[in-house]
Amino acid sequence: MGYVNSLKCRECGREYPVDPIYVCEFCFGPLEAAYDYNKISSVLSRELIEKREKNLWRYKELLPIDGEPQVGLSSGFTPLIRADNLANALGIDHLYIKDDTVVHPTLSFKDRVVSVALTKAKEFGFDTVACASTGNLAHAVSAHGAKAGFKRFVFIPATLEPSKIVASLVYEPNVVAVDGNYDDVNRLCTEIANKYRWAFVNINIRPFYAEGSKTQGFEIVEQLGWKTPDNVVVPCASGSLLTKIWKAFKELNYIGLISEVKTKVFAAQALGCSPISTAVKAGTDIIKPVKPDTIAKSLAIGNPADGYYAVNVIKESSGWAETVTDLEIIEGIKLLAKTEGIFSETAGGVTVATTKKLIEQGIIKKHELTVVCITGNGLKTQEALSGHTKQVFYIKPNINSFEDILRNVL
Ligand SMILES: *Cc1c(COP(=O)(O)O)cnc(C)c1O
Ligand SMILES: [Zn+2]
Repeated sequence: MGYVNSLKCRECGREYPVDPIYVCEFCFGPLEAAYDYNKISSVLSRELIEKREKNLWRYKELLPIDGEPQVGLSSGFTPLIRADNLANALGIDHLYIKDDTVVHPTLSFKDRVVSVALTKAKEFGFDTVACASTGNLAHAVSAHGAKAGFKRFVFIPATLEPSKIVASLVYEPNVVAVDGNYDDVNRLCTEIANKYRWAFVNINIRPFYAEGSKTQGFEIVEQLGWKTPDNVVVPCASGSLLTKIWKAFKELNYIGLISEVKTKVFAAQALGCSPISTAVKAGTDIIKPVKPDTIAKSLAIGNPADGYYAVNVIKESSGWAETVTDLEIIEGIKLLAKTEGIFSETAGGVTVATTKKLIEQGIIKKHELTVVCITGNGLKTQEALSGHTKQVFYIKPNINSFEDILRNVL
């Protein structure tokens, strides 16, 4: 038996049964899982969590499933790496990378949300799963859906990086490339979700899907020795991950596993798609949709579903937001790679470059403990680096030919 009592409207508070629904019939606000925290705090302890397997289901009482986990049994519990080299390069003392580029089967944090969404889709009895994706979500739905035995439809913008498309195709889902941007894809998928009884993980299953992101927040706290960081820098597409990391910290505090939450939450966005950062800087929570134009395609959502809530978390936590150019994104990817040996995709470049900017502005301070969320693996977006790396040395298979180039290197 699970610990979710109902789905609750985030705007008017009306409650609904736990069904594959996502929007309030009265005010059109989004629905969110409402837990019985008293019951959870009576069963869940640090010790119990620490005894469990190192995957995201070690926090299962705080996830919206009723039975045992069925999908994603090897997702999550990614490393939290002390990043002293990068800290030195940026001029601060305490920096950690939450490294979601590894461990997950499809090498991005989307394995978290999909593990929860597909477990719930099984509980609801769906036979077909689907998603509107900027790339990584399609990988996770394709892979986990294959293992779990679902029919799969993944919808993507047709302009996605070729390597990102192949990384879905290999699992043999139905890949539908739409002539439009993510916001067009999402609009079409909402229409399809109304017509077909499929589990669209980020549409009609969204209240359950979104909760999976909390596991990144839970892990950060546990891996820091059951405390929250001073700062956390989070890349934003729809803004969901950012709000759920905050929710995770608050929940652990609420059920008594940590005594305080003193974290400032920072949003990282690309200049070519920065509706959330722009609103934060303008001091408003009204999100103005934009037409995305950036190499950070996995973050290219011009009309972010959780943008309003992300802005409010940033405000509540006394955080801030920044934007970075495509060139800064590439520099960010390279800086992380050459200091920490971590190859992140463009989204990670956005987060590193944003962190650099926040430090330079004195907003993130030298003595504070900062966690940077790196959410996807660089092997997925290699195209972004073309023309921006060192050259390969091409030589003949003899020592003279090698020493010719060695003279130039030394
Ligand atoms: C989806 C995604 C995000 C952010 O997603 P939200 O929609 O803001 O929750 C961040 N990084 C990567 C690599 C992603 O694929
Ligand atoms: Zn409502």
